[in-house]
Amino acid sequence: MQVCFVGAGPGDPELITVKGQRFLCEADVVIYAGSLVNPALLGLVKQGASIYNSAKMTLDEVISVIEQAVADHKQVVRLHTGDPSIYGAIKEQMDALDKRRITYHIVPGVSSFLATAAALQCEYTLPEVSQTVIITRMEGRTPVPEKEKLSSLAAHNATMCIFLSVHMLEDVLKELIDGGYSPETPVAVVQKASWPEQKIYRGSLANIAEILSNEAVNRTAMIVVGKCLGSDYALSRLYAPEFGHMYRDAT
Ligand code: SAH
Repeated sequence: MQVCFVGAGPGDPELITVKGQRFLCEADVVIYAGSLVNPALLGLVKQGASIYNSAKMTLDEVISVIEQAVADHKQVVRLHTGDPSIYGAIKEQMDALDKRRITYHIVPGVSSFLATAAALQCEYTLPEVSQTVIITRMEGRTPVPEKEKLSSLAAHNATMCIFLSVHMLEDVLKELIDGGYSPETPVAVVQKASWPEQKIYRGSLANIAEILSNEAVNRTAMIVVGKCLGSDYALSRLYAPEFGHMYRDAT
């Protein structure tokens, strides 16, 4: 396979997959999402390979670089931050490649919402607290379908990971409270999860804006909301002694 979309992971260069790393090391042409991919990963690229920063390119330019590389029998890696399937704009690239009959392969990556859970040392799916994780964003220049407005999603009181929205924090908080989370619901804002400059801010829907008011929070941040960040939950059934399952008898 000559073209590969690779998830670079959330920042820490050791959080790319083994397979993604192999493709990156073998590539003749690398097009990376310059705004978020850790440049340290580019150190893996072999000497003489061409490296392009897609932050400065249009879709057409990205596709023509891939097309030319394929015509020249070169291996191409399109490096996306986190996992390419989440806000990665890969569909339009795949469709453009389909039209040109160029085949491709996708290597998944560790999404930033997972690196955020690791940074927070939390479990998003706590028994009797929430068994659902909602991945979403506040509407910005990219519209959000009416039924998926933050205020509608908030009605579930599930764990929510909100991407691309920290610069609109006040609006986010208002929609979440209007939608049905109580103002005491715990919130965390994690900036640059897994990077050396990672920062964690914790509070509630009522006070997180105040806590962040004097901080210059970078846009590369995740907002996590939900009672999973609190301390109340029920023990899992999986490890309960009286709960037998396929691999262990109840005692
Ligand atoms: N495909 C990526 C998301 C790209 S959208 C993924 O799977 O993670 C860009 C948004 O992702 C940012 O605005 C921010 O909300 C989030 N993000 C990316 N990297 C992050 C990190 N290291 N820490 C916290 N949030 C991050």
